Amino acid sequence: MVKNLSFSYSKMGMYKECPQKYKFRYVHMIPELPKYYFAFGSVLHSVMEFIYDPSRQFFPTLAEALVYFDNEWNKTTWEQKGYASVDKELAGYAEGRREIEAYYAKNASTFVHPLSVEMRSTLEIDGLSLISILDRLDYLGDGLVKILDYKTGKTVQREPDQLYMYQKVVETSPTIKALIQQKDPSVKQVKVGQLSFYHLPSLTEMTFERAPDKEILEFWQKVLAVADQIRAGQFSPTPGENQCRWCDYRNICPVFTGKEYVGPSGAPALALLKGTTCAVIPTPTDKPIKKTKKKMQSTQEILSTKIDQYGELISQAQQLKREIIELMKQQEFTRHFGTQYKAEIELKQTINFKDQEAVLALLRKYNLLSKTLVPTQSTIAALLQDVDVPADVKESLKQLATTSVEENLHLEKTE
Ligand code: SF4
Repeated sequence: MVKNLSFSYSKMGMYKECPQKYKFRYVHMIPELPKYYFAFGSVLHSVMEFIYDPSRQFFPTLAEALVYFDNEWNKTTWEQKGYASVDKELAGYAEGRREIEAYYAKNASTFVHPLSVEMRSTLEIDGLSLISILDRLDYLGDGLVKILDYKTGKTVQREPDQLYMYQKVVETSPTIKALIQQKDPSVKQVKVGQLSFYHLPSLTEMTFERAPDKEILEFWQKVLAVADQIRAGQFSPTPGENQCRWCDYRNICPVFTGKEYVGPSGAPALALLKGTTCAVIPTPTDKPIKKTKKKMQSTQEILSTKIDQYGELISQAQQLKREIIELMKQQEFTRHFGTQYKAEIELKQTINFKDQEAVLALLRKYNLLSKTLVPTQSTIAALLQDVDVPADVKESLKQLATTSVEENLHLEKTE
């Protein structure tokens, strides 16, 4: 019997982002480097599971939740979590406590026991072993459930594939149906009544309607098509500015190395990833990591690291500048505002005189050589602004010139 393909929303997301990346992660089984935002989100999810644990009769107090958070947080070091420094990890720790305190202040008086928390479901369907982790399920009565997903990133937005996947799982899973029937034996069919993303940093909940069956069917056909491509071994890379910049596998990717990866699989390959640009770019203000390194870094090593950090930041800043200019042009903006900065596109015109001989002959002819101490591009261009140079000479000069316009981005801090 052919084994079902192990599949999930995140696996599908990775395949769609880049099949080669999927191959590194799930065929070669090379884990990605730790990311602080996953570690942070994982601890906060554990705390939510602890708070709403349906097997406990009473909800924990804020103090108990904070102790639980501390214990979970301290299970790993700052490096294992993927933070760039101890200071950054401490800031993450403080933010985690703040979010829990704020969550209690807003919600503690209305805590109710859910149907389940952090429910790991594996649904065998259409040749797939579909794995999902449902953060929280609430029973609304009449066979209707509410799916709640906690978000801990900077922002939260509608992610249709994730919503569709949840709906498909909840409405098809025999395990979830059995769980609901324990509460309400009259239920014949489970339906999603509400889908929500709860953004913990801002304590805001985004609620979505159940998707029509037609949309779920179309989505499911796309899932099955992706699964077919994986089974067929289609893993051609789809490089792109954004995905490659943050990809842990860049050091071993055929797009960058020019050859197929034949190295070790699994955790032993992790060392090969080190040195790849990772999602955490240390800033020049980060303290050197001597605090936990056994060997003290020499001044030269620190200097080399800082030079690399500086170069990396500059190249990122230049890339960001290009992206901002492109977006502003698409929107036909010449000026736009962030929350702290104002950006303005400035156009700088440059005049070039390629045929130096012709220019010099022209200046000689009109006795203008003395006006240019050294005839350079800029001193000749200055003649075009000189009120003493006759208009017809300026016209002749212009005919020898080519102009180019360079776009620059002027940034100014707003109050
Ligand atoms: S570096 Fe780019 S092309 Fe290569 S695996 Fe990563 S995302 Fe895909």
